[in-house]
Amino acid sequence: MSKLRCVKGMHDILPEDMPKWHYLENCYRNLVSDYGYEEIRTPILESLDLFVRGIGESTDIVEKEMYAFEDKGNAKLALRPEGTASVIRAFLQNNLEALTPVSKLYYIGPMFRRERPARGRYRQFYQAGAELIGIEDATADAELIGMAVTFVKTLGIQNVNVQINSLGDPETRPAYRNALVQFFSKKKEQLCNDCVRRLDTNPLRILDCKVEACSIAAQEAPNVFDYLSDDAHSHFSDLQQLLSLHDVNFTVVPTMVRGLDYYTRTIFEIQGGADILGAQSTIVGGGRYNGLVKQLGGRNTPTIGFAFGIERLLLLLGDNAKESVKPTVFVAGVGEGGLERTIRVSRQLRNCNFKVEAPYKNGSLRSQLKRADKSSAVVAVIAGADEALQNAVTIRNMQNGEQQIVPLDELEPKIRELM
Ligand code: ATP
Ligand code: MG
Repeated sequence: MSKLRCVKGMHDILPEDMPKWHYLENCYRNLVSDYGYEEIRTPILESLDLFVRGIGESTDIVEKEMYAFEDKGNAKLALRPEGTASVIRAFLQNNLEALTPVSKLYYIGPMFRRERPARGRYRQFYQAGAELIGIEDATADAELIGMAVTFVKTLGIQNVNVQINSLGDPETRPAYRNALVQFFSKKKEQLCNDCVRRLDTNPLRILDCKVEACSIAAQEAPNVFDYLSDDAHSHFSDLQQLLSLHDVNFTVVPTMVRGLDYYTRTIFEIQGGADILGAQSTIVGGGRYNGLVKQLGGRNTPTIGFAFGIERLLLLLGDNAKESVKPTVFVAGVGEGGLERTIRVSRQLRNCNFKVEAPYKNGSLRSQLKRADKSSAVVAVIAGADEALQNAVTIRNMQNGEQQIVPLDELEPKIRELM
């Protein structure tokens, strides 16, 4: 029989890696709650239609990468490839806008895209994201970008590059689109097959193509800033002024577009760790999507958000960036009734918030202490029959082997002294 393995491009996250994950997730939760964000958890499975309508039919995600299928009841479903469409669906379905004029929501969870696996690029990966729903002013854009940058820096990742651009509004997009079509039609022979198709379906995406010939062809493409409305222009210049109040250094990249159709006005990326991540060095992507709420059936509601790839951030974290693990206390039992005593003492210690390992079966003290060593216990508590007569136990410092008899009601402080 062939060995069972997890699906290509997907990974087990093992206990030894978990302290880093917890550290990152806790940093994220703490930081975004300081900005007033609250967590939302949506299902991993949604109707296919949500992503087709939300992300856009001619995006790579929907065209090529989505895990979409029919279930046994012929419902067309998809594993979520990103978080925003689901959050907005939940926002509308649960009428969250009736609760507060501004909703600030964050999420952490797995996403699924059938891409070619590489370092920092997987078919199941985790994102931490945030959405600020209800404010159109550039103050919201600047605060959100500032929050993302602060998070990366809190993790100790210093050398990052913040890139921003404006895609303008749906009213001015057709003119820019036409200009791109005209420009790239003359360079058709240089473009990859996908981009030749994009000329009809989604010409903006040619600017985002990772094929080298296409990026060369795009070098002198029309500039989006020549096509912005006055409002979009002033929104973008407000943003640039405000970002300095958040201590964000940035570069304006007029050719930057993003992989999803829903973006309007501000888009941004944070790049970092190219030496480690190679082509996967975009660690954060985000932007404004003023049309999405309406697109999904709600009222016109300005919104901005971002998402981080957690694995990519973890690849850039130093070894010290992890949650500290509690030291272990091992409880051993000897003599008549030893096993029962280990159960009682373990419960007493866990009530005092110690992390406790116990033997599960009777055995010699030697074999139990061996297990204590293996579980890297700092202290062993030996519940022997003689001490039990005086309501006491022996505690052993596992580093130097020193032992002392301690009454049960003084156990907690005595163990703390040894930790
Ligand atoms: P890329 O250009 O690297 O494909 P993207 O523009 O598709 O990224 P977004 O959809 O904006 O990415 O998602 C936000 C973040 O999620 C990315 O910046 C990245 O850190 C992470 N991410 C996206 N796709 C993957 C993946 N397949 N595996 C791991 N992380 C990913
Ligand atoms: Mg991608």
